[in-house]
Amino acid sequence: MTSDHTTTHSIPSYLNANDMGAWGIYLEQIDRVAPYLGPLSRWLETLKRPKRSLIVDIPIELDNGTIAHFEGYRVQHNTSRGPGKGGVRFHQDVCLSEVMALAGWMSIKNAAVNVPFGGAKGGIRIDPRKYSSKELERVTRRYTSEIGVIIGPSKDIPAPDVNTNAQTMAWMMDTYSMNEGSTTTGVVTGKPIALGGSLGRVEATGRGVFVVACEAAKDLGLGIPESKVAVQGFGNVGGTAARLFHEAGAKVVAIQDHTGTIYNENGIDIHSLLDHVENNAGVMGFPEARAISNEDFWGVPTDFMIPAALENQITIHNAGQIKAKILIEGANGPTTPEADDILIEKGIYVVPDVLSNAGGVTVSYFEWVQDFSSFFWTEEEINHRLERLMKDAYRVISDVAKHHGVTLRTAAFIVACTRILESRQVRGLYP
Ligand code: GLU
Repeated sequence: MTSDHTTTHSIPSYLNANDMGAWGIYLEQIDRVAPYLGPLSRWLETLKRPKRSLIVDIPIELDNGTIAHFEGYRVQHNTSRGPGKGGVRFHQDVCLSEVMALAGWMSIKNAAVNVPFGGAKGGIRIDPRKYSSKELERVTRRYTSEIGVIIGPSKDIPAPDVNTNAQTMAWMMDTYSMNEGSTTTGVVTGKPIALGGSLGRVEATGRGVFVVACEAAKDLGLGIPESKVAVQGFGNVGGTAARLFHEAGAKVVAIQDHTGTIYNENGIDIHSLLDHVENNAGVMGFPEARAISNEDFWGVPTDFMIPAALENQITIHNAGQIKAKILIEGANGPTTPEADDILIEKGIYVVPDVLSNAGGVTVSYFEWVQDFSSFFWTEEEINHRLERLMKDAYRVISDVAKHHGVTLRTAAFIVACTRILESRQVRGLYP
């Protein structure tokens, strides 16, 4: 096989070649790793095509009696190392190319931190803020029924993602179980504790972000107390990461969410802000900080910048403004490859999503194991195992980065692609 076969983008006929969205970013990241895979690069094409993509129609009756239809997706990107694994997001911009990319990043993430899963992702194109809880329950249940043919505890295990939570998982678990005729807790993770959920799962992604941030800081000779932090996103990931930094004595100086950006150079009291967000639409209006523009957020002087919202946030338009020493990606795919190059040139140390936000899926793995064995661990045990696994993954990947003289992102992709493609190769092609 010539190298042409391994570096040319293969564009599936169902995507618009000029507008591949996040999938285009994912493909570019895969191409960057090709030179480091040796003979395994023969199999690289396998990562440029999702194994299975399902698009479903979700009709529901709204509370006002009318019928509405939504588009749902479940993409299983790769299952060479184990069942598909990845969250389900509810967002008005969800589309196939986005879910494909998110599924691809799950394959890389799960292999990068060495949990025994492939990669998958799901989503529904819906703005959940516009619907009642009863309507969201109907959407979730119908979606679960429609994708029921391809999910299962040993096939593909969904979990929460943007705008979904433990309640969503409870509805999914119940719907799947009713269809199967038996209570199957292991079909989803991120469930309520009462249904076999794991302690520590809710804050696991934010905690993982904090753990790798501390490791990165050590490598750069930075301390956490008195350091300055800016966080984009104040949901499950950004909110927890901000709180852990705050509790460790850092000054969280800027926070942006869907309502706007707030700034206080002396540090924001994150506990008060969490209370404020409970009772308001978001961070805006918090009395102990002032509002700044969303554009100015990126230029705020900080040690740590944590994008923890959506993909495609750091682009050629704002990467040049960033002043942080370390950028820790809490979101999936927040930095475009061109922006990545700008950050490297500026000497900013980037800890990539597939490593830094892997805490969530890591505790999902612990939850899945606990469900299978019906034996549940303490929160202390879970946090301890999470910390150990994330620190080990960070060390392995940073050693590879040093060895090849590449970024942490390329190193994470080298480690992950090698693991996936070794499994692919040794399993062989069927038939
Ligand atoms: N949605 C999370 C992620 O993007 C967690 C997925 C999981 O636990 O399966 O990593």
